[in-house]
Order: sequence, then C-alpha cells, then structure tokens
Amino acid sequence: MKADLHCHSNVSDGVLAPSAVAAYARRSGVDVWALTDHDEVGGIKAARKAAGELGMRFVAGVEISVTWANETVHIVGLQIDEDNQGLVDGLAATRNGRQARAQEIAAQLANAGIPGAYEGALRYVGNPDLISRTHFARYLVEIGACGSTSEVFRKYLTEGKPGYVPHRWATLADAVGWIRGAGGIPVIAHPGRYPFSDTAEGALFDEFRQLGGNAIEVVTGSHTPDQYLSYAEVARRYGFLASRGTDFHAPGEARVEFAELPPLPAGLTPVWHDWF
Ligand code: AMP
Ligand code: MN
Ligand code: MN
Ligand code: MN
Repeated sequence: MKADLHCHSNVSDGVLAPSAVAAYARRSGVDVWALTDHDEVGGIKAARKAAGELGMRFVAGVEISVTWANETVHIVGLQIDEDNQGLVDGLAATRNGRQARAQEIAAQLANAGIPGAYEGALRYVGNPDLISRTHFARYLVEIGACGSTSEVFRKYLTEGKPGYVPHRWATLADAVGWIRGAGGIPVIAHPGRYPFSDTAEGALFDEFRQLGGNAIEVVTGSHTPDQYLSYAEVARRYGFLASRGTDFHAPGEARVEFAELPPLPAGLTPVWHDWF
C-alpha cells in the first residue's frame, strides 16, 4: 500500500485546502491517505469526498497536541469518527488558548523589533481557531526577518528564544482516550523529534501503551534514515503497529516528498494491516 497517513491542510497549519491536499497526494502516488490536521477535524468531510473522487482510500485522522514531561508531544489518531462528541469537545478545549498564546508571541516579537506579527500571521491563517507558530514563521520569512521557516523556529519560536511562549496542551491520557473513544488508533507522531533521554522516551512509550496506545510512526518526513531503523526496533520491542507519513504542510516546504519516503522496514505490522 502506498500510504501517507500524516498530512496537513489549511484547516490547521498547511497551506492547501483539504481537497487540494488530496489532489497533491494523489499526484504523488498515494493510494491510502489520511488528513491529520492539528487539533481539528473540520477538514475531514471535504477530504473524504475529494479522496473518493480521486480513487484514494481515505482515513479520517487528527494530530493532537499533548504536554508530557513538560514537552510537547504529538499524538496522531487514525480511523477516527470525526463526529464523536468526546473527541470534538476535547479538540475544542485543546485549541482554546491558541489566540492568547499568539498575542503573547506577537508581543514578544514586537519587543525583539518585529512589530505587527499577529496581524501578519493572521494573513496566513485558514482557520481563525487554529493560529499556529507555523503562521508566524511564514510571516517572518515574508518580511525577510529570516530566510526559511526552520530558521524562524531556530531564532524565535523555540524555548529560550524571543517569541517562545510555553503552552499547556492536552494530557497524554486525554488524547489517547479521545481517540479511542472515537473508535480510532492512537499513534505517537515522529518520536525521533522529541528531546527526551532514552529513559524518558521509554517512560513515554510505556505510559502510552498502558493508556491503550498501540502504534508509532516509524517512517516519517521528520525522521532520518537511521531513525527509521531505530524506531522500527522500538515498534518490534513494544509490539506497536507501524505508521508512515510525510507530515506534508505545503508544496516546496516538505522535508521529504512522498515519492522519496521509503516503505516500512521489514518485520513490522503496518497500522493499516486490517483496514481494507
Ligand atoms: P504549534 O502547534 O503552534 O506549536 O506549531 C507547531 C508546528 O510548527 C508543527 O506542527 C510544525 O508544523 C511546525 N514546526 C515545529 N518546529 C519546526 C521547525 N523546527 N521547523 C519548521 N516547522 C516547525
Ligand atoms: Mn504543523
Ligand atoms: Mn507533529
Ligand atoms: Mn504534523
């Protein structure tokens, strides 16, 4: 299966509408596709319709922002019922606070000599409920404050930098619970991106599994080829199903295009093994 189970639209911090992400995925050779917007399911129905018209199998998804051990961890939910009330309410609560955080980010950037960033970022926002650091990054690139969005994150939007505002997201237990309550499979997104020690990382996997989590991303645009192998080993050791996705946000912004994403390493059970 040519599966891309991690993509963003302009319903969160991607730039394309859900139907256009579907078309992009199809052109890239995807045949099983999930839309996984941050803390939002508002794009799912349009995405499902577009995927159907394009002859792709569609998987309803979401990527939930979680605070665990004082760090932000992302938990993807796949095969969710996007109308499940517990999930819908939980996501609304998780989104709540992004506005105030964005105002604070803008105030800090103004202090650092970059005024007007809130209004600037808003021009990139497709969903007023979901203003993200990515929107600030795109604006700072536009005005020439940095040459790339990753440079903006390095210089402004990460811990210790002017423009970093700590935020408390959902708990791991809530995120896993909402996904399971909506009939979905919880997946630890891009585990290689977190700044955890081996011990803390192991504690995350243990707690996730105890809560009912049973999958991790192994092959993702956020991992290096070495990490494909080390997280394949983690999947085998913990008995996790393995997922695969680009984490697409925008054409040209991708860390990796779908066509460059390798298949899952051998000996893993794909998260989609019993779906179709
Ligand atoms: P937020 O949910 O507002 O904290 O924004 C998180 C989003 O910022 C992630 O989903 C990524 O899309 C983006 N992001 C985080 N770190 C980086 C980075 N170093 N370079 C580019 N984008 C990043
Ligand atoms: Mn994002
Ligand atoms: Mn993520
Ligand atoms: Mn993502």
